[in-house]
Amino acid sequence: MEHIFNFSAGPAILPAEVLQQARDEMLDWHGSGMSVMEMSHRGKEFMSIAAKVEADLRELAGIPDNYKVLFLSGGASSQFAMVPMNLLRGKKSADYVNTGEWSKKAIKEAKKYCAVNISASSEDTNFTYAPAQDKWMLDPAAAYVHYTPNETIGGVEFNWVPDLSLVNGNVPLVADMSSSILSRPLDVTRFGLIYAGAQKNMGPAGLTIVIVREDLLGTVVPGTPTMFDYKIHADNDSMYNTPPTYAMYIMGLVLEWLKRNGGLVAMEKINIAKAGLLYDLFAATDFYHCPVAESDRSRMNVPFTLKDAALDGVFLQQAQARGLIQLKGHRSVGGMRASIYNAMPIEGVAALVKFMKEFASNHA
Ligand SMILES: *Cc1c(COP(=O)(O)O)cnc(C)c1O
Repeated sequence: MEHIFNFSAGPAILPAEVLQQARDEMLDWHGSGMSVMEMSHRGKEFMSIAAKVEADLRELAGIPDNYKVLFLSGGASSQFAMVPMNLLRGKKSADYVNTGEWSKKAIKEAKKYCAVNISASSEDTNFTYAPAQDKWMLDPAAAYVHYTPNETIGGVEFNWVPDLSLVNGNVPLVADMSSSILSRPLDVTRFGLIYAGAQKNMGPAGLTIVIVREDLLGTVVPGTPTMFDYKIHADNDSMYNTPPTYAMYIMGLVLEWLKRNGGLVAMEKINIAKAGLLYDLFAATDFYHCPVAESDRSRMNVPFTLKDAALDGVFLQQAQARGLIQLKGHRSVGGMRASIYNAMPIEGVAALVKFMKEFASNHA
């Protein structure tokens, strides 16, 4: 097979070394005679894998001891419900910042459980920027404040962490980090809860990570299913039921790869360089257009349109012929989107930029 670069938004590219290691260990993990897929989640082999994944995540992201790390299934989409079910804690409302498609889904689900205040929104420009903190209208009585640090579809990223201590004291900040977790250094103490589906920047689909401050656990909305109660999972080390074992194992390999490659500080540096290649191209030509405000452009998901949408089909076809695949934009926004998560090497982005320059000059 010729070499390809996969720009999918998710499930997404994984480090080649990780896939090779998984292949090598597929039939016999560390002399156990078993594939990880065949192991009991309560056996000593898998327990050691699970402990290592958690320890490595804690080390990489600097997760303090008073935070629980949960390994769940159900996708980030289940968190849209689990967050209000667990964090309302008797309160009647929650604050949400609306910056695009994923925010909207979180808001829609939360409305089933509480009153939702839209604290800030960028809907006025069809979601092309991150509203500045001084525009946020926060309610001191809200149970929590929810936002989406990186809107995977719109390509809008907050390059700052909201500081709630300035405005409303003890209200916890909740972040859907599905498409940006581990892409840059993280100060977990700024958050009450972080959640992320694994399939963008951490591993395969089927695994969802929740990082939650311990003191927020223990009160759920009446009628909450057992499986939707964070405390059940926290008290059982995510082994109340069978967790997504193979996905956890692959995530563990990704975390080891991250550690070998300098951790989050190194990732941020390379991610800035990678995204910069594309954004510099947009600045240099009017053949391509990125709708997102310059200060809020995502390092992970880069949406763009061609000057003439009639060329979209041939652009995608020629890109594919060069091994540059899955560049079609989300059906809700059209155009193109290059997702350039941690596992995308800078050579992949350079190859894309080279192709885009040639395509532009051939169709000028
Ligand atoms: C992909 C994505 C989701 C949905 O994730 P699932 O695991 O498919 O439920 C939610 N939020 C963001 C920001 C995403 O990128």
